[in-house]
Amino acid sequence: MSATAAAPVRVSRFGFVNAYLVREDDGLTLIDTLLPRSGRAILRAADGIGAPIVRIVLTHAHGDHIGSLDQLAAALPQAEVLISSRDARLLASDTTLDPGESREKLRGDYRGAATRPTRTFEGGERIGSLEVVAAPGHTPGHVALLDARDRTLYCGDAYSTLGGVATSAKANPRFPLVRMGTWSPALELESARALRALDPRRLAPGHGKVVDSPGAAMERAIAQAAA
Ligand SMILES: [Zn+2]
Repeated sequence: MSATAAAPVRVSRFGFVNAYLVREDDGLTLIDTLLPRSGRAILRAADGIGAPIVRIVLTHAHGDHIGSLDQLAAALPQAEVLISSRDARLLASDTTLDPGESREKLRGDYRGAATRPTRTFEGGERIGSLEVVAAPGHTPGHVALLDARDRTLYCGDAYSTLGGVATSAKANPRFPLVRMGTWSPALELESARALRALDPRRLAPGHGKVVDSPGAAMERAIAQAAA
């Protein structure tokens, strides 16, 4: 059936912002695209694995996650581009809030991209081996991706591990950047709890190192944010 999961391949810029290459039977899924001008580094990493990038999945529309989307979409015209329908609007630099959404200020870099998704999701879909898990709060349409083969959780900015495992609901004094980009801390904390309940075997964040057996650290992070 599907390929066995191999350890996630992390492509990092300056050790602080991450994209991931996930192996599938039909090629590679790229999760996030780093800062602008990172496309070549990502393509080199895919070359190193020896498989083509067949789809690009975005956890959310912040500039340090979509920065090289246009560059990569130009280099990979056949690749699918996927993002939540909600953050697709932010990707198009539409920063209006929906009726019923928290009136908190949208924070962070929404410079957007010219590339439009070929497909959008809401949460609950399956993309290859990855389950889309709605995890709103950091941005309104933020998602995480759970690899059903080995329970690696690609958590975007719902958690960071730089300076220790932390949610983006509360500032980590050692790495305040992700909190500074968070739209709704209360919603983000709810999502952090829901992601913990998935019992991931590995936490692969947008910022910081991959952490194995992250459950206890995620619980501490939730307790800190809730305090
Ligand atoms: Zn972010």
